Amino acid sequence: MSSDASPLRPPEATRSSQVQILNGRFDRLSAEETVQEVIGAVQAGERGVLSTVNVSILMMMRQNPRLQRFIDASRWTVADGQPLVWASHLRQPRLPERVAGIDLIDQLCARAAQDGIGVYFLGAESGTVHAAVAVLRSRHRGLDVRGYADGYFGPEQAEARARAVADSGAGLLFVAMGVPRQEHFIEEQWENLGARVVIGVGGSFDVIAGRRKRAPVFVQRAGLEWAYRLAQEPRRLFRRYLVTNSQFLGLISWSAIAQVALVRRVIPRP
Ligand code: UDP
Repeated sequence: MSSDASPLRPPEATRSSQVQILNGRFDRLSAEETVQEVIGAVQAGERGVLSTVNVSILMMMRQNPRLQRFIDASRWTVADGQPLVWASHLRQPRLPERVAGIDLIDQLCARAAQDGIGVYFLGAESGTVHAAVAVLRSRHRGLDVRGYADGYFGPEQAEARARAVADSGAGLLFVAMGVPRQEHFIEEQWENLGARVVIGVGGSFDVIAGRRKRAPVFVQRAGLEWAYRLAQEPRRLFRRYLVTNSQFLGLISWSAIAQVALVRRVIPRP
């Protein structure tokens, strides 16, 4: 039995090995293993939250204790960014690979269609979520979409939105309302949501619906997806990326220097 049980991480859940990167603890899971874990949990009737964390979110967690607690309490936390995988190379053991939320949507929908698991999509503007669902239905034949709804609602409607998910009987719920809005919603409505596994996927529906472009694979592998996004929305994102990237670089460099200093002290040079 796990010692760090929480409503978002049931006591029966076994914990895979983790890597600490600054203020985040990441599961050492490949994308395939993550899908396997999630589908296994749904089929076993278990519940849990899967959080996908990138550099920007990791830095946001430092300023937002509520978000930090939510991610810490999640059943699974995966690294949604190449820079985090590189940073894990400063530690042993390392993270096996990047696990991107947007790729998980497709991989999980493929398995859900195959195994008859119902899915629900909540978030983005109504035209966007509608278009994203149409795309996913066309990609995954037989996908059992139990429902979908936009992510623009006030606090007075939150409970009804959550109960609609529960009433649909969906096993998997994707929430795409941006960070930390989606995490606060999941936390507040956890008991009303009903879905077995809930995953926050940020702005992914916009990309699936074709309203926002995703960086080419070589840009993703170079760890520059943020720069590609910045080029698309410079006014809105400039400050965010300037602050979070430089903070991350500074903290990681400091942590690397501290580690080298520690190793030198523990193993004195001859
Ligand atoms: N969004 C939403 N409800 C809101 C605000 C945003 O569903 O009240 C959606 C938005 O339409 C987009 C996603 O959340 O699909 C990500 O939003 P945003 O781009 O603001 O967040 P970011 O990805 O920049 O953190």
